[in-house]
Amino acid sequence: MTYQSFNPATGKLLKAFEDLSDKELETKLAAAAACYKTWRHTSYADRAIIVSKAADLLHERAEELARTMTLEMGKRIEEARGEVEFSSSILAYYAKNAERFLADTELHPTMGEGHMESSPIGVIFGVEPWNFPYYQLARVAGPHLMAGNVLVIKHAGCVPQCAIAFEKIWLDAGAPAGLYTNLLISHDQSDRVVEDPRIKGVALTGSVAAGRSIAARAGQNLKPSSMELGGSDAFIVLEDADMDHTIKWAVWGRMYNTGQTCCAAKRFIVVEKLADAFLEKFATALGALKAGDPLDAKTTLGPLSTESALTDLLKQVDVAVSHGARLVMGGKRINRPGSFMQPTILTDVKPGNPAFRDEFFGPVAMFFRVKDEEAAIALANDSDFGLGGSVFTKDVARGRRVASRIDTGMMFINNISWSDAELPFGGIKNSGYGRELGDMGIQAFVNKKLVRYAAVDAPV
Ligand code: NAP
Repeated sequence: MTYQSFNPATGKLLKAFEDLSDKELETKLAAAAACYKTWRHTSYADRAIIVSKAADLLHERAEELARTMTLEMGKRIEEARGEVEFSSSILAYYAKNAERFLADTELHPTMGEGHMESSPIGVIFGVEPWNFPYYQLARVAGPHLMAGNVLVIKHAGCVPQCAIAFEKIWLDAGAPAGLYTNLLISHDQSDRVVEDPRIKGVALTGSVAAGRSIAARAGQNLKPSSMELGGSDAFIVLEDADMDHTIKWAVWGRMYNTGQTCCAAKRFIVVEKLADAFLEKFATALGALKAGDPLDAKTTLGPLSTESALTDLLKQVDVAVSHGARLVMGGKRINRPGSFMQPTILTDVKPGNPAFRDEFFGPVAMFFRVKDEEAAIALANDSDFGLGGSVFTKDVARGRRVASRIDTGMMFINNISWSDAELPFGGIKNSGYGRELGDMGIQAFVNKKLVRYAAVDAPV
């Protein structure tokens, strides 16, 4: 059974769901395709009524939705509430701005006149991960529905209740049948959905392995795709960084969502002068986190999303250590019910150690000591990933120079405020391609059509 909802704080099964039969899947795809025929011609104003209503409902149901998320994947309740409100604001943002982003653009060719217009392309298939069970959905629903496309979504196997709750938001917002459809389907069925001629684009957020598989299939079928994959972001600390400020962001950047964020700070690269002080303060701050029930607002360390996420991560740490890495702290599961892991710091991770190129999706920080800024940049760029990264320095101009030299899709100076509705999000290299959110996000699945015109009496 693909869709099972376990509480990772207790290990108890909450609910399990059957996969859709092929016949049910066909009915849902047919409804989505039928919906597109009218939705594509629905005005922006009328689309915005439904998308705004969905935004309002997310806000109104924030408490209930946040609780479902916390119970299903272990996100601490304050973070869960923040995610629901953020998801609401993404929908509201696109309801307000989509028409402006997709307005015709005048062109001035040498002969005659012309413009570019933007039109929807059809039913888009989204495959989404569990780590932000609503935000990931809002990130595709806001822009793509406002653009006039229709969505069918395969959410992760461990968050079916969140997936169903988000679909219900659309039904309750008055969306026409088929506008937003949650599909409880297997990987095989997902493959067939990618190939289905009614599907015109594929948006995946997930691991590199899933990206390779789904992008290849989309490519074979000549369908556009956007890939938001993993990361191993560098957190660069230069010798003029403000230590207290830096430590706060280091802890937040590594431990938010129990470290299960694609663009979390994962490689801490600190210049020699501050290295010892940074490591000591960072370890102290991580050691002060208290594991507990993620529904309790006082808890500062939640569980990992699933038991397998924990056991995989523990194995990854063991492999790193067996290849010469040194554990400064942590590395074990916490002795209590549920899938909790000790905050962990690894040092001495050398090239050749699998950890050097891996993504640690949980509370595991790799610490690197470097000689200077140049060495920090070189190490930051020595990665197969290219999602985000950050630089800490009191000299913002210097931070900007360093940021420009890091090969990633996003860089943050003296902060790691990853995502906002109006800012493009995404990476390069194995972190994928395309951008979600901002103006760019809504352009992913629209036809940018050139229209050129001349007066009938213009010279030929
Ligand atoms: P995952 O295994 O790739 O799962 C993500 C989604 O893809 C799930 O819905 C999963 O379904 C589905 N999936 C996986 N393999 C598939 C296949 N062969 N065919 C069809 N569907 C498939 O990713 P994860 O490990 O759970 O999530 C964490 C990863 O996502 C990390 O690498 C993280 O960095 C990345 N991520 C990236 C971003 C970004 O914006 N760049 C944001 C968040 C997370 P099942 O659950 O049914 O397997």
